[in-house]
Amino acid sequence: MHGVSDDYTPNIKEAFDFIKKDENQVKLIALFNEAIKNGKAYETDVKLIKKDGSELWTKAKGTPEFKDNRCIRIYGTFQDIQEQKDREEALMKAQNELAEVARKFKGIFNSAFQFIGFLTPDGTLTEANESAISFAGLKPEDVIGKKFWDCHWWTISKATQEELKKNIERASKGEFIQYEVEILGKEGATTTILFNLKPLTNDNNEVFSIIPEGRLIQDIVDTRKELINKNNELSQFSTIVSHDLKEPLRMINQFMQKIDHKYSGSLDDKARQYIYYAVDGAKRMSKMIDELLNYSKLTEKDKIIELVHTNSLVNEILKGSEQLIQEKNIIVEKTDLPDINGNITGIKVLFNNLINNAIKYADLSKMALIKISCISHPSEWEFCIEDNGIGIEPENHQKIFELFYKINKYKDEDTSGIGLAICKKIVSLHKGNIRVESDLGKGSKFYFTIKKIIHA
Ligand code: ADP
Repeated sequence: MHGVSDDYTPNIKEAFDFIKKDENQVKLIALFNEAIKNGKAYETDVKLIKKDGSELWTKAKGTPEFKDNRCIRIYGTFQDIQEQKDREEALMKAQNELAEVARKFKGIFNSAFQFIGFLTPDGTLTEANESAISFAGLKPEDVIGKKFWDCHWWTISKATQEELKKNIERASKGEFIQYEVEILGKEGATTTILFNLKPLTNDNNEVFSIIPEGRLIQDIVDTRKELINKNNELSQFSTIVSHDLKEPLRMINQFMQKIDHKYSGSLDDKARQYIYYAVDGAKRMSKMIDELLNYSKLTEKDKIIELVHTNSLVNEILKGSEQLIQEKNIIVEKTDLPDINGNITGIKVLFNNLINNAIKYADLSKMALIKISCISHPSEWEFCIEDNGIGIEPENHQKIFELFYKINKYKDEDTSGIGLAICKKIVSLHKGNIRVESDLGKGSKFYFTIKKIIHA
């Protein structure tokens, strides 16, 4: 192949028609012209178009030959380098993919809300994400390459540093470590984190890296503290209620009775009746205080979960109420009830309250009926205490579960309005629900669920 002087540039373009018209062709033509003008050899990669239209990567090389300061010929070759180009392309693709993965990983690593990093098994920090670094108001070079326990976050106290050092030692032997710890941020700020040390092992089960990870849990810690304080306050309040409030009641009771005894001769029936009402009121108030105390203490003592044989438990309750059931001519139907996981005291109170209500609110103008049954759902038991008693109007279906709520018409001495509130609390301690289906004059169905597996 040969070409001649600048004047022939258009022809050179035509001559290179078999080369793909891309930036490589432009480059080759430029080099070619340079060779013609200045006698410089050229070498560049171009794609040839084959007869069938397919493309082939080649290395185009050429050396100009000059005579009398004029280029008379160029010796050029095109060497097939397709395989090499394919390899380069594959490598480039793999590198790009890797870079993309690295970019994504870095994005997640740095934008993660929690603090995260990498440690060598001897506790040297090799990476820390932006969240962790900016929390401490640092630059990467302040911490990278340092022993982790000497980094700012842990310098909150010597004990915290020592604890971390020991835990890294354990993690470097393959143990997963998790604990709550307070760390130091910027300008003396502190926060509590749930901190993990996760060892990474190779195929030989040797730890080659440890991932330290911290989740911000200050809000949870604060709420927990507040809850503990509230609980303490509540139990103090309960004690005050039971001891201090009952004392004046005892005095009213005592002195009323004294008046009754000492002045009985001079009191008329009306006065005696007033004294009776006063004493009775004081007694009822005292009972309500006791019940309130029981209600408020429910959470503390009812944490033990054991196997409860509800069938025999319900039989026992029915036996205890046998006399009342007979007096009211109530027919009781009961299916076989299951063994469940629960707090035995709580479950007993629950059935007792619901069964006694079904007895208490029976409609004696018809044949009274109580049905006790249970169905099994995949994750919970659903019990039902059904009666054909006086029923409850829909607007009271929620309210009856409130503390001291009684439906007006039935506000007699025998009721305190706390039974169903206690039931609701017991059921919620068992991670279940309680509800009623009822209508006035049509009886009531009280349903409650108890989870089959309860994490105490
Ligand atoms: P108490 O029975 O001591 O009043 P509860 O909390 O057990 O307190 O019940 C609240 C109210 O719900 C009762 O006063 C009563 O009006 C209504 N109630 C409860 N169970 C039934 C029932 N099985 N049938 C009709 N009404 C009921």
